[in-house]
Amino acid sequence: MHDIAIKHGRVYHEGRWVKTNVYIDDERIAAITDDDLPAHEIIDATQKDVLPGLIDPHVHFELDLGEAVSVDDFLGGSKAALHGGVTTVIDFLDPTDTVEGLKAAYIKRKKQAEKSLIDVRFHATLKAPKCDLEAYVKTVKALGMHSIKVFTTYSESGRRTDDDAIATLLKLTTKHDFTLVVHAERDERIVHDDRFTHEDLTTSRPEVAEIEAALRLSELIRVTAGRAYMVHTSSGRTVELLKQRAADLLNKKLFLETCPQYLIFNEDRLKGEEGKRFTFAPPLRDDVARQKLLAHENAIYAFGTDHCAFHWADKDKPRLRDIPLGIGGVEFSYGVLDLVVGESVVQRMSERLATLFKIEGKGRLSEGAIADVAIYDATPRVVESHHGNADYSVYTGETVSGKFTDVIARGNVVLRDGLLVMKEDA
Ligand SMILES: [Zn+2]
Repeated sequence: MHDIAIKHGRVYHEGRWVKTNVYIDDERIAAITDDDLPAHEIIDATQKDVLPGLIDPHVHFELDLGEAVSVDDFLGGSKAALHGGVTTVIDFLDPTDTVEGLKAAYIKRKKQAEKSLIDVRFHATLKAPKCDLEAYVKTVKALGMHSIKVFTTYSESGRRTDDDAIATLLKLTTKHDFTLVVHAERDERIVHDDRFTHEDLTTSRPEVAEIEAALRLSELIRVTAGRAYMVHTSSGRTVELLKQRAADLLNKKLFLETCPQYLIFNEDRLKGEEGKRFTFAPPLRDDVARQKLLAHENAIYAFGTDHCAFHWADKDKPRLRDIPLGIGGVEFSYGVLDLVVGESVVQRMSERLATLFKIEGKGRLSEGAIADVAIYDATPRVVESHHGNADYSVYTGETVSGKFTDVIARGNVVLRDGLLVMKEDA
């Protein structure tokens, strides 16, 4: 007698869709078979897609920006994630520049993440380093993390890591087997002006900043033979140039991430008062850049959301410098990407991320894997509401490919018929 049976679904198994059944015992997948076996709980997945629990490698829950804190904490953020079929997120430690600071940041974020309904991993975050980089890397690995985020920009808040340190870190990626996660915008190209409004966001953070930083990163990877994951690639021109000049590195040494917002929105969304809703960094680009991103999507290694939600009141400020940058998205990434990119997004939201960031037992449906399963009703719909804490979502009114009806995380049914199954104390 198995604990749970998911019957008659269209199951994503070994890279293709097959009509079969999935059986779960405790927190593992016990069997994937056409056989009709008994189980305590049966989920009928007829006419539904059965996916591995998705992984969002780029979220900012409860991110403290000083003047504002992102409104989805680990509880609210994980609720939204579950409605998006996401059973694992990778968030970030606060930026640190010493080994001691790193250890304290890890303890702080681990504590905050205890409220989460899903598994949380972390990328360590390094700011303008003041320590021995190898000692920092060794501590990251000792704490069980496999990635370190750096910024090539944000010098004004002391977060920029210079090229020499990036080259040193890239060399260390092979020695210590981790991935350097890079926010690539060339700092010298970023323009700050107190008179800027939200409509000046693309002037403040121009596309050329991303292009130059991305090309520079590819050169540093070539010289060092290191490995990097470039977050939130915003422009198809960046991808096009990387394909021309660094095709041999893509998906081998240089792994590109983009986010759903860059594929379906363009900079016109920033116009007018309502445009404040669409403020994030890097910003939306022109429509040619968006179309090129779609055209070159096969060069994108994986998708993340950069989920960092705020309320409208946080956004409704006349000056750009007072607006916290970021939007929610974890709930809608699969529905948006499935519609505009197609089914290749499954692997790019699961297995590839489990591989790159060493999330053991996750990312695929197979016997013995951790039982993280997301069941999807692929009936296109217009988004009318969302489940995060923020009082708005940029995806309201947008079309998505369907809706997650049931989600199992580590063998527990946590979403049933579209409703969260909450534990007593949550
Ligand atoms: Zn981010």
